[in-house]
Parts: sequence; structure tokens; C-alpha cells
Amino acid sequence: DIEIAIKVVIVGNGGVGKSSMIQRYCKGIFTKDYKKTIGVDFLERQIEIDGEDVRIMLWDTAGQEEFDAITKAYYRGAQACVLTFSTTDRASFEAIRDWKRKVENECNEIPTVIVQNKIDLIEQSVVTADEVETLARNLNCRLIRTSVKEDVNVASVFRYLATKCHQL
Ligand code: GDP
Ligand code: MG
Repeated sequence: DIEIAIKVVIVGNGGVGKSSMIQRYCKGIFTKDYKKTIGVDFLERQIEIDGEDVRIMLWDTAGQEEFDAITKAYYRGAQACVLTFSTTDRASFEAIRDWKRKVENECNEIPTVIVQNKIDLIEQSVVTADEVETLARNLNCRLIRTSVKEDVNVASVFRYLATKCHQL
């Protein structure tokens, strides 16, 4: 059996929930005070796509994104990308275009999804559904709304990307 492995990079401003998403997806846990200093290189999870085993390798940043200091090594060989922003952080939404550009500079065009996280806080939202959908359309990316906290749609993000990669 040939094993398929997909490296996925997860980018977005600090505090949007990237590390939490990786912990949730790979370990099934959510902690409110996940320490960003406990930077792991990556975690992985194996899933099945069209009857084949696919190993999803999720690469985390150790908070360097806040200093715009993500190295080329982080992006190297990435085959799929998650652009993440938070429902309650306007600046993180406005930064999505820049994040897409950064990833494209290092990885060319790879399957990419825009994730609007913290959808459980929709009552405190600082973005409209309309502008989020417009951005996704303009950037030609699938939009998935998630709550890492309540485990809503997290698995769909990686299933979507793995399926996309598998079809290439
Ligand atoms: P990162 O800097 O992008 O890696 O973000 P973290 O994973 O460190 O998360 C930042 C904060 O947001 C933490 O306090 C998380 O517990 C919290 N958080 C992450 N996802 C969610 C979510 O879906 N809903 C809510 N309410 N909080 C979340
Ligand atoms: Mg983090």
C-alpha cells in the first residue's frame, strides 16, 4: 500500500485559534489556555479518503506569526493551506489577503480553504456574513465556518483539503 501524506499549513493572525484547531483535530481536546509557547512542530491524524489511508500532517507556528517571522521552512513542501481568522477579530479578517499572498509566494497555488473560527461567538461578531462570503469568492477559496471550542466543522476542513489534494 502506498501511503499518502499531506502537509497542511495553518496560517492567520495570532489568537484566531490555529493551535487549538490542531489540538482539537489531532488529539480531540480543547483547552482555554493552550500555551502558545508549547510550540510543537506538527501533529498528525490519519483519515480515509476514497478507501485510501491519508496521513494529514498539520504544521503549527509557535507564535512567530505575530512578529511576521514565519520562516520558509514552515511553508516548505506544503500541499494544502488553511487561512484562518476569528469571528471576533476584525484585523484577523482583514489580514486574510496578505496571508494568502505569503503562502502563494512560498508554495505557488495549493488547495486552500478560508476558515472563520469562533463561530460560537457569532453574537459578538465583527464581520458580516456578506463580506466574508465576498472575500472567499474573490480569493476563489471555499469558506468553512468553525468552532474549535464546540467541535463544529473542524474535521470538514481537513477532509475537504485532503479530498482536493487527492484529486490532483
Ligand atoms: P493561535 O494563536 O491562532 O494559535 O490561537 P490559539 O489556538 O492559541 O487560541 C487563542 C484563544 O482562542 C485561546 O484562548 C483559545 O482557547 C481560543 N479559541 C480557539 N478556538 C476557539 C473557538 O472556536 N471558540 C472560542 N470561543 N474560543 C476559541
Ligand atoms: Mg498558536
